[in-house]
Amino acid sequence: MMNMKEFITNASILMAIITMAGLLYKQFLVSAGTKLKNALLLAMVIFSGWASMLLGIQLDDQVIFDLRFVPIIVAVLLMQKKRLILLAGLGIGLARLSFGVSEAAVSGFWTVIAVSAAGAVLHIMFSKWTSRKKVIWTVLFLNSVNVLFIAFLGVTPARIYLVEITPIALPTSLLLSFLIVWMISDLRREFLSKQHLLESARRDPLTKLYNRRAFMAYFQQFSDGKRGKKPFVLVFIDIDHFKQVNDTYGHIVGDCVLKAVSGRLLNNLRSIDIIARYGGEEFVVILPDCTKENALLAIERIREIIARQPVFVNNVQVSVTFSAGLASSVEFASDQLLKKADHALYEAKQAGRNRTICAEPAAACS
Ligand code: GH3
Ligand code: MG
Ligand code: MG
Repeated sequence: MMNMKEFITNASILMAIITMAGLLYKQFLVSAGTKLKNALLLAMVIFSGWASMLLGIQLDDQVIFDLRFVPIIVAVLLMQKKRLILLAGLGIGLARLSFGVSEAAVSGFWTVIAVSAAGAVLHIMFSKWTSRKKVIWTVLFLNSVNVLFIAFLGVTPARIYLVEITPIALPTSLLLSFLIVWMISDLRREFLSKQHLLESARRDPLTKLYNRRAFMAYFQQFSDGKRGKKPFVLVFIDIDHFKQVNDTYGHIVGDCVLKAVSGRLLNNLRSIDIIARYGGEEFVVILPDCTKENALLAIERIREIIARQPVFVNNVQVSVTFSAGLASSVEFASDQLLKKADHALYEAKQAGRNRTICAEPAAACS
């Protein structure tokens, strides 16, 4: 008979580890890169597999049942790459051997490898599955693979394992697997919605560029040297006579023009550049690790592209130009940069629009 006390201890440890990992994710990893997230997930999966084995459930004199394959189910459902699922299996398999190399340990190792390989195969097939179908099949299939491998590779004769142990162990582990998956999905949903909320608080809803608040946070980081001591250039961009676009074609077309200009800025700048909508028809860009001359070349190139290629909205052709002002962190203190770039933009407007002007400590350069 399965020892209920041991089973509850095992299940509780697994749940505690998953809850802790969820907490870590929510508190520290919302904005972290995928690599770090995957590394923590992998560590959590291997650690919980190891902890399950440490607290194995004594089924009879010979057989110890444990929940080491449940974390692999979690890995299959959460990990983006099959390589990571196999790594999780290998990690738990090696953890099994760390308890001592015996016949049972070696068969345990191969069972975990087989479960993770089956998980990787399922993962390849997932693309066409709905999430519910994915969960149900993963839990049923991997539990079955686990039982069959233990039966035919394990130290207990297959007949005894299948007749005496499986009828108790399988329903219990199925139930627990579903419970863990439910917990994980709930944590994942919460994590994603927090991530989504934080991200949407940083974005402008119309153009999806960073908003002014996010820009100010980046600007502060660059000014404080938190993003390296390298020089950066700040650029203010303002669409010329945009009021006329609205007056002539209407606000909806005006919105489309703003989106199109944002898209062109994104497409023609580097991925490290920070592009934000400062407000209305005004944009602001931080070009990190960039000289004033290169920044001028980059902005002029985009200005020419935009001026040359009108925006088409519902077959209406709208010609757009912008003016820009830029200032380099090499020449101005950070508390002066915004003012200087904005002033350079004002000069570009005064000089006739559709041009870029650099703020100079002495005089304008173009
Ligand atoms: P200038 O060349 O001097 O910059 O002239 P301008 O017409 O672009 O500047 P002005 O500040 O007079 O007008 C800006 C216009 O931008 C007025 C406002 O209606 C429009 N605008 C601001 N935000 C939005 C928006 O989200 N959507 C649309 N369609 N228009 C916007
Ligand atoms: Mg304008
Ligand atoms: Mg303006």
